[in-house]
Amino acid sequence: MTSRAIRCGTLFDGTGAGPLRDALVVVQDGRIASVGPAATTPVPAGAATLDLTNRFVMPGLVDCHSHASIVPGLGDQLGQLCRSPVPQALAATANLRTDLASGTTTMRVMGEEHFLDLDVRAAVEAGIVVGPRLLVAGRGLAASNGHGRALASYDGVDEVRRGARENLRRGANHVKIFVTGGVSSPGAMSTSSAYAREEIRAAVEEAERAGTYAAAHAHGGAGLRLAVEEGVATIEHGALAGDEDIALMIERRAWLVCTFGIFMHPTGIEQGDGQRATIMDKVRWARRVVDENFPRHLASGVRFACGTDSMHGLMAFELQTLVRLGVKPADALLAGTRWGAEACRVDGEVGTIAAGKRADLIAIDGDPLKDIKAMARVTLVMKDGVTYEGAVGRSGR
Ligand SMILES: [Zn+2]
Repeated sequence: MTSRAIRCGTLFDGTGAGPLRDALVVVQDGRIASVGPAATTPVPAGAATLDLTNRFVMPGLVDCHSHASIVPGLGDQLGQLCRSPVPQALAATANLRTDLASGTTTMRVMGEEHFLDLDVRAAVEAGIVVGPRLLVAGRGLAASNGHGRALASYDGVDEVRRGARENLRRGANHVKIFVTGGVSSPGAMSTSSAYAREEIRAAVEEAERAGTYAAAHAHGGAGLRLAVEEGVATIEHGALAGDEDIALMIERRAWLVCTFGIFMHPTGIEQGDGQRATIMDKVRWARRVVDENFPRHLASGVRFACGTDSMHGLMAFELQTLVRLGVKPADALLAGTRWGAEACRVDGEVGTIAAGKRADLIAIDGDPLKDIKAMARVTLVMKDGVTYEGAVGRSGR
């Protein structure tokens, strides 16, 4: 039994408790064994010590929406998904390294081609590739005339069922379905559904029968409401969600997964596809709309978490944006940890620093409760009790 005693300058454990000064976290065989004030928490005999007394320690981040192989700044995201498997897998290894280095220890992948995410998940678990623990969807279900279509599309109830079943048979953790339009394709953003009610219901049924849930790409309006009515558990993006949409989400306990960086950060769609005037206009418009809408979403009490949507290494920007839009810093940290774990249904394993949970934690230089920008200064990452420090190169982005 290997054990480690971690002395923390400040501990934010993600349970909702206030920050604890001079805390001790004991890790045994990849899990948290005990947590408490350093003065009263026993150190097991033979435990190695890790001194983080000058750091802010918190749970590893949960990125609820990303794609392992995509880099939005390179442009044409759907074109990237259509590349052959080898360049896609190589891109994924570089991206996941960046994600882990920035503090993301769990990442939900929301659609890849070639079932690449399932192989990459296995490679991470085997220690071949360095990266966050992955929860994967396999292929996203997209209609032939809808947003999100890469190599495959699924039309009609039977094809949707076949698509969902193929993903689940290969070991997908959840089902992803594209319902409304998106920001990265040209033209006005459609909020109507590319799928009929029966097709969405089929995706949800297949997921639930396999013991999991469906997540829907939906920005707002009739498409979002159709998805929620049919039992989709997480609404991805939701930038255009109106009061009626949000009320329905609250009633059905659906999660809102915010993804700000991809259209707000200068290295996102702006860098990749911003030279196309129709897309840049849409990006500017989305920025304005979200600045108006999110404070209303926040006031409504809808449950929210966040994702980078392939802005690898930039969970800090998501949390910073939440704070800019009115979220209390402590709640932004919860959105990036425990709430994300709840939205992805892995809160029994990760999301808080508590006895029995996986030993996923990060150390930060500074105090993000005082200055959320400190989230960009992650100096140590521990996943399953293994520390990654220095060995994980930063991309410089
Ligand atoms: Zn996405």
